Order: sequence, then structure tokens, then C-alpha cells
Amino acid sequence: MKLLVTGGAGYIGSVVAAQLVEAGHQVTVLDDLSTGHADAVPSGARFVEGSITDAGGVLPGMDGVLHFAAKSLVGESVEKPGLYWANNLGGTLALLDAMRTAEVGRIVFSSTAATYGEPERSPVLETDPTRPTNPYGASKLAVDTALTTFAGLYGLAAVSLRYFNVGGAHTAEDGRVYRERHTVETHLIPNVLAVALGGRDAVSVFGTDYPTPDGTCVRDYIHVADLARAHLLAMEACSPGEHKIYNLGNGTGFSVQEVLSVCREVTGHEIPAVVQERRAGDPAVLVASSEKIQRELGWKPEHPSVRDIVADAWDVLPR
Ligand code: UDP
Repeated sequence: MKLLVTGGAGYIGSVVAAQLVEAGHQVTVLDDLSTGHADAVPSGARFVEGSITDAGGVLPGMDGVLHFAAKSLVGESVEKPGLYWANNLGGTLALLDAMRTAEVGRIVFSSTAATYGEPERSPVLETDPTRPTNPYGASKLAVDTALTTFAGLYGLAAVSLRYFNVGGAHTAEDGRVYRERHTVETHLIPNVLAVALGGRDAVSVFGTDYPTPDGTCVRDYIHVADLARAHLLAMEACSPGEHKIYNLGNGTGFSVQEVLSVCREVTGHEIPAVVQERRAGDPAVLVASSEKIQRELGWKPEHPSVRDIVADAWDVLPR
């Protein structure tokens, strides 16, 4: 297939683009490089630097779009909600309009567990209430809603994948490494590994008074290569007039303290930790039921162990 990957110079988008190229698809990456890196675009893909609001120029002739380009920092979204609504919802609506004009009928959308907010139960099912607690999650949920409407009205074939906590790195068949390298890093595993590398003195543990076994937040960690594979399955499975939504996680929760212990084991470093206040908007427990995507698309995680996720991220960090 001829596929457009928006945000394909970012962490997850670049792994998906690499897997698509390996699977024999013709891939074009559209990325404005606001947070991505041009050298993350796989060598077998064509790269166009630009905004999703200008996707019209690259869409003609495409069979489908995998849409990752978005603002994704929860804290920033609380401070600048307009930026998140404009980019994530406004940008996607412009992309969807351009897709209609160019008669591109398939989209796989990078959604998030943040659409659920503070879940009532664990693991979270796709049918559970969506009550986002920040503009980031709200903007992604609004796109999910728009996709349902567009599928019903215009026959769009759409799949939303709601990611839980993504980690690890991917080494492609050609030996190229795709890893997380955010300028502003908020995620737990890369922040812990940065301390192990000596780049920072201590890792902050945001809150130890949650209603969880050790008091720290529990999350469901999924390997980026497993997550990426689900996009290929979703693109193949999407069908006109339908919008399908799938959670993507491992179905097992690990606390911040447990992740820290795994990181200490894997790196052999002590990794000092300092307890800080809770981070605003963090739910206590966020664990996915991925039963639906396993049942309907035959997806199965190949690297479900947190140890492997941490070790893969650690092994490729430049020393
Ligand atoms: N966290 C932490 N220290 C950090 C980064 C994150 O204690 O430096 C905690 C955070 O409060 C949450 C969990 O680790 O409970 C996972 O956070 P992350 O930002 O990785 O993902 P999120 O679940 O927010 O998408």
C-alpha cells in the first residue's frame, strides 16, 4: 500500500514507518519536526517536512494514513489548552477534509488511555466511560468522536488505537535503532534511565500515597515494537463506514517503585529517587484490557516483560 505517516519522525511514528517499510509498503512521512527528528525517518521512506494542515499536497494517490502528529504533553495541555485543541483536533479535522478531497479512505489514529481519565475499574475496556482529566486527553477523545461521525457520514474506514504506557526501542532489520528522544521528557522509564546514565542526580517519584499496594501509581507498559505491529494489523483490518477503537497494553500493572527496581536491576546502577508531590491529573491505576484487539485482529504482544522493555531502551542509549 501507499501510506502516509504523519508524525513519522517521532518516537512511535518512526517505529511504525520502519515496520511498514520492512513489510514492503511505500511510505511517505509528513512531519513538521516540532518535536521529531529528520534522522528518525527510515531510509526507505520519503520525507516531507510540513504541517498536517498542508497534507493536501501529499495525499493524492495514497491508500491510507497513519496519524501520529500531535502535541502530547499533559502538563503543557493544561497550561495551553488552545494549542492542544488547535493542533490535535483542528489539525486532524483539516487532515480528514484533505483526505476526503483526495479520496483517501483509511485512517489509523494514535489515541490514548488519557481519553478514559480516572478509570472506575481495572483493566479498562473500550466500552468504559471516557472522562478525560486534561485537554490532551480531551482533544484525542474529540478526534475519536469525529472519526465515528466521519465513518458514519462519509464511509471513512477508521481505527483508533488507545495506547497505555509505551517504552523500549526498536532495532530494524537493517540495524538502525529507533528510540525515544524527547527534548522535554516526562515519561518514567527514560527519566529513570537518564539518572542511571548520570545525566541527572535523582529520579522524582510523584506521589507515594496512592491507593495502590506500594502507594505509587500503577501503569501498563507496552513495548513500542508490539505497539507498532498493531498499526499494520489495524490498517489491514479497517473497513469502510466503521470506526473501531482498541486499547493497547499488556494487561498487567507495574508500580513506579517496581519500574525503578527493574531499572536498577537492568542497569546495575543505584538510581537515587526522591519523593515529590503527586503530579496533577495522574490516575492511581491505568491498566488496559487488550482482549478486543487480540480477539478481533489477532494481535499479541511479543515482548510483554517490563524487564525487556527497560533493557531494550537501556541497551541503545548513547553513552
Ligand atoms: N513518574 C514519576 N517520575 C517521573 C515520571 C513519571 O514518578 O519522572 C510517574 C507518573 O507520575 C506516573 C507514572 O510514573 O504515575 C507514569 O508516568 P508517565 O509520564 O511515564 O506516563 P503516563 O502514565 O503519565 O502517561
